[in-house]
Amino acid sequence: MESDMSKHIPQKVLIVGGGTAGWMTANLMLAAWADQGVQVSLVESPDVGIIGVGEGSTPVLKRFFTMAGIPEREWMPACNATYKAGIRFIGWSSRPGYESYFHPFFSTFDEHPIRTFLSDADRHRCNQASGVHPDPYFLTSQLANDKLSPRPGLGQLKDQIDYGYHFDSGLLGEFLRKQAVKKGLRYIRDHVEVVERGRDGAISQITTRASGALSADLYVDCTGFSGLLIKEALGERLISFKNNLFNDSAMAVQTPMDTNAPIAPETRSEALSAGWVWNIPLFNRYGNGYVYSSDFISRDAAETEFRAHLGLLEADVAVRHLSMPVGRIENHWKHNCVAIGLSQGFIEPLEATALMTVQLSIENIISFLSRAPDINQSLRETYNANVNNVIEGIRDYIVAHFMMNSRSDTDYWRSCRNDSQPSEALDSLLRAWHSSDDFQAELVRQGARQSYTPASWYCLLAGYGRLPGGPSDAVASSAASGTLGFQVLKQQHGDSLVDHRAQLKALHSLPS
Ligand SMILES: Cc1cc2nc3c(=O)[nH]c(=O)nc-3n(C[C@H](O)[C@H](O)[C@H](O)COP(=O)(O)OP(=O)(O)OC[C@H]3O[C@@H](n4cnc5c(N)ncnc54)[C@H](O)[C@@H]3O)c2cc1C
Repeated sequence: MESDMSKHIPQKVLIVGGGTAGWMTANLMLAAWADQGVQVSLVESPDVGIIGVGEGSTPVLKRFFTMAGIPEREWMPACNATYKAGIRFIGWSSRPGYESYFHPFFSTFDEHPIRTFLSDADRHRCNQASGVHPDPYFLTSQLANDKLSPRPGLGQLKDQIDYGYHFDSGLLGEFLRKQAVKKGLRYIRDHVEVVERGRDGAISQITTRASGALSADLYVDCTGFSGLLIKEALGERLISFKNNLFNDSAMAVQTPMDTNAPIAPETRSEALSAGWVWNIPLFNRYGNGYVYSSDFISRDAAETEFRAHLGLLEADVAVRHLSMPVGRIENHWKHNCVAIGLSQGFIEPLEATALMTVQLSIENIISFLSRAPDINQSLRETYNANVNNVIEGIRDYIVAHFMMNSRSDTDYWRSCRNDSQPSEALDSLLRAWHSSDDFQAELVRQGARQSYTPASWYCLLAGYGRLPGGPSDAVASSAASGTLGFQVLKQQHGDSLVDHRAQLKALHSLPS
């Protein structure tokens, strides 16, 4: 049985690229296949840097560390990591009472509040009454408000609250490289100059500057936006999402932190004139970035706005500028090459989903290669359809953030609302929400096409104060069930809910 299952696993894998995508791929492939004699190599250019941003995750990353066999007490202190309970959106809606809302990571504790929230929201939506704000309903929103950790300290609550992470992406890469080398990775620091194809179109070998030719059964393209293998050699083209995701540029800067102050376990995402800024708290500093559309603001004006926002107008600190093509390729697995990471596409970072797509892609390819009775074009097509489905589902959810904004202060926000061309699926969802149709039924109808749960959709749409009847200035006063649940939790399990900063300090002092 075992030999049947592993009949198609590649004997030699060559990963090109040592950004987070390359290191995650190396660790998961080694965890899955090293004991079956598979040789995994990774070649990384000394000349081409990593993108060096990407410091927030979804809860899916927890599974990555579990699968790679790496405990939090080892990697979190090494990467100055913190816990993340969700994302706080600020200034996306101009409706009174809805100036901000929290998109929480949901847990078993939220099952009852989710039911109450969805039914309260539907009642208000269909009666065109006042709105229902999501924040009071959910546990992680309350934890973030109180700067408590979503990782309970003791007792029965362990593993019952879901959470993601914030981390230093450069340190995470170094940490994962060392882990992979420990597990048997062959690491080559060299620049790939040529990618050759055989007569069947598949990659036959790659040539590096110093180490000569390298070959493998499976090539993994983790070369970032350049897509050296999948795009340049195999000819895949980016299908642009520019008609509904307008942001194409970003800039990033780190700022200091008072290392005694409490840490909110949240990413903050605040709307500016032509985009939005992120603020990510690590254990020792903040990461900040402005994601904007170059069609609406110049690079210099955007930098001035960003610096003013951060109080850095006079500061002698450099801001790093990045350009950001948004879109995806069609075939992520082509011949004997799989693209993972920025090489396969990028949706802008609003919900910090890129590493989730990386992880789901790696898990999928490992599973396909380990279990398929035969490797053929139809298998590749199924894989590619799965990955595209995940990407498009995430894309729709992110596009909705922009389309639903109610700001009128700049052309950018008006254009996001009026000129975006949503997919059919998103269009149907928004129509259902804005009519008195059964929104939950529409979500169910779209089923597997959706990458986000109904609760996330309701948080977004109710969190913006969007109601079919038009602007609503009143926030419903009911909405107490989550808050009550949180108070009960605090009373019954107070010792499990711990201050986030204090918990991280303790984690840092543990022997690794
Ligand atoms: C502004 C911005 C914000 C983001 N925020 C988030 C976030 O909050 N959460 C999230 O999940 N994701 C985020 N992302 C995405 C995230 O940064 C990436 O998905 C992640 O870092 C993986 O990148 P990568 O490994 O694919 O590419 P890169 O980091 O670009 O690595 C490419 C690698 O390829 C190598 N390489 C290139 N050419 C050659 C060659 N010729 N020979 C050998 N090696 C070569 C380079 O040396 C490098 O090691 C963000 C992205 C951007 C642009």
